[in-house]
Amino acid sequence: MPSVHTNRAKWEAIAWLIAFATIYGAALFFNAHEELDTFFRAYEHYDLDEIFTALNIAGALGLIYSVLRMKDMSREIQRRLTAEQNVDWIACHDPLTELPNRRYLASTLLNPQTLPSKDGTAVFSVDLDGFKKVNDLLGHDQGDRVLKVVAERLTSIFPDDNVYRFGGDEFVVVIERKGNQDLTAVGKRIVVAISKPITINGATVDIGSSVGFSRIPEDSGTLTEAIQYSDCAMYAAKKSGRNLVKAFVPVMQEALVQRIQMEADLKLAMKQNKIRPYYQPLVDLKTQHIIGYEALARWETSPGKFVPPSEFIPLAEDAGLIVELTDQLFRIACQDALSWGAETVLSFNISPVQLSDRLLGLRLLKILGEVGLPVHRLELEVTESALINDAETARGVLDDLVKSGISIALDDFGTGYSSLSQLSSYKFNKIKIDRSFVVTFEDSDRQEKVVRAIIALGVGLGVKITAEGIEDESQLRRLQDLGCDIGQGYLLGRPCPIDNTLRIAEQDSCGALRAASAP
Ligand code: C2E
Ligand code: CA
Ligand code: CA
Repeated sequence: MPSVHTNRAKWEAIAWLIAFATIYGAALFFNAHEELDTFFRAYEHYDLDEIFTALNIAGALGLIYSVLRMKDMSREIQRRLTAEQNVDWIACHDPLTELPNRRYLASTLLNPQTLPSKDGTAVFSVDLDGFKKVNDLLGHDQGDRVLKVVAERLTSIFPDDNVYRFGGDEFVVVIERKGNQDLTAVGKRIVVAISKPITINGATVDIGSSVGFSRIPEDSGTLTEAIQYSDCAMYAAKKSGRNLVKAFVPVMQEALVQRIQMEADLKLAMKQNKIRPYYQPLVDLKTQHIIGYEALARWETSPGKFVPPSEFIPLAEDAGLIVELTDQLFRIACQDALSWGAETVLSFNISPVQLSDRLLGLRLLKILGEVGLPVHRLELEVTESALINDAETARGVLDDLVKSGISIALDDFGTGYSSLSQLSSYKFNKIKIDRSFVVTFEDSDRQEKVVRAIIALGVGLGVKITAEGIEDESQLRRLQDLGCDIGQGYLLGRPCPIDNTLRIAEQDSCGALRAASAP
């Protein structure tokens, strides 16, 4: 597009030519040179002819000079135009994959011709599964290469359509539908293409994807809404597992709105310190003394009304709040633990995603140091799922924790699918038999055999066994008879606030516990 400056220069050149032609015409008409010549001769002593010649030559040189400057100017203008175009391109494209970005899509939304197509439009939201692991384990350079490969695969499936990178590991594809196209099948093509192994520097990386899609005009009338809806569907797909494709249905949006609200509530609750640890006693079944407490997070929304941790802990994990929440709870729990007996253990739950956080140990040790709770009084409860999902990183994190003197308990033992392999490959300090075994072991011969075997395993490995969920006395007695080391459950004490644990300690809780376990 010619700029204002180029146009003006053109007009000025034309005006100059017209002026020149007019003066030339006038000079011809008045026979100017001969007249001037006579005049110059008459006044020879003023050197007017030399001055006139000098002016003429200077004028001609000025003309050459102007042409050269104009050329320079036009080059400069061209350079600026190219730079402006580059800036526009950069602002609307992702420099890594060279795909257009969210901003580009937003600018096309202003153009009504982009929609609608004859048979409608479909929007696919694609989010990678397991990408964070690649970044964490192989570094950001390799992560970038994975993103490039994914972008290439998407553009090769949709050469004529619009593939966008919305940032991070999120891609969006907008396609024009053809007839009664099977959109789930299109989504599956995306999943299959992305799940093909990617080889980087000789290492093979497996990346999954979650895909959600929505349709125009059936689900929404605008592209903006369609993107929101396909995002909703993608989120639902991600929640249900890996490599899944989901079509948008309105109920998904309600769930998302609810989730966004709950996330905001959770943030506020954390800010107002409304989430606090409760403590449930861990009782030595031989001596019947309380040897420690498990900290269990409680979110009290109104007096006596609680959101269960099984709801808000996963929410905190998804919303990226788990690190902050854990730090908050852990600090309070350590401070509270200082008011218990000198050797009473604080058992603290660590959620699976945190075992891929290499700084976990450092953060916990920092808080322990600041509060002044000795390391040997801390025990962390981890579940098998953490060890299964990303075994190598989890192992590294656990090694760091153990090296610094923290005990590790394997929680919910028996509910995972590779319990024994975890046990044989890692030295835990404690195993907690999942509540589901304790609930049924009295009525089921097989369950009793399993519990018996776990206790024997504990003896063999030199690891203490805790039985969770002891609710009645016969369960307690049976577990004592089987030689179980530690017990936990409503019979021995429900989770309660710190003040109650102190009261129990003052009243010599063991008396009460002994009464509970008396034949
Ligand atoms: P968990 O670690 O297996 O904790 C034991 C759960 O069983 C607790 O549920 C406890 O209240 C409950 N329980 C204890 N004794 C009995 C009993 O005799 N009968 C029955 N029916 N239940 C019993 P809660 O507090 O709802 O916690 C649920 C899960 O949430 C915990 O399972 C733990 O995995 C997680 N959680 C709790 N607090 C935290 C936390 O601070 N951080 C993390 N990452 N996870 C937490
Ligand atoms: Ca636990
Ligand atoms: Ca447990």
